[in-house]
Amino acid sequence: MVFLHIFIKMDKSILDFGINACYVALAYFGPLFILEYVHEFGKRIKSQEELENVVSEEGTKLGMNTDNIQTVLNSRYTAICYRLEEPKSDKEYALEIGNRLDSRATRMKVKHELRHIQKGHCDKQPKNYLLERLDYFFRREPQAVLYATLELKI
Ligand SMILES: [Zn+2]
Repeated sequence: MVFLHIFIKMDKSILDFGINACYVALAYFGPLFILEYVHEFGKRIKSQEELENVVSEEGTKLGMNTDNIQTVLNSRYTAICYRLEEPKSDKEYALEIGNRLDSRATRMKVKHELRHIQKGHCDKQPKNYLLERLDYFFRREPQAVLYATLELKI
């Protein structure tokens, strides 16, 4: 009987821990995903030329030289930036943005990807999968999301 009581008590504390962990995860990831979803709103970038102008304008605001960034509109990705393995001409990075019914090319997405490039997120990432995911969710992504939506530089 005593064992059953201890088991139930322990089981309840594990359950409480699980519920609290869910609240903490929701409190953290909820706002992060909402702010990322906000990137969908705003004027749609419709042409390659417009994208290049937005990249240049937003890069200037960040104090970046964007001449070394190759831009692609209508990418199959929602939005992505990466370091070019074999640089074409003088381009060092690529910034690609999708422009579909379910994913709009917006200025906030450009700001998001530029912040990743500026902070060096495309240059060096942990090799270990778990560390890479933790680094993404708790360092790289919040830095890009908070800058793109609220212009907070953390
Ligand atoms: Zn990102």
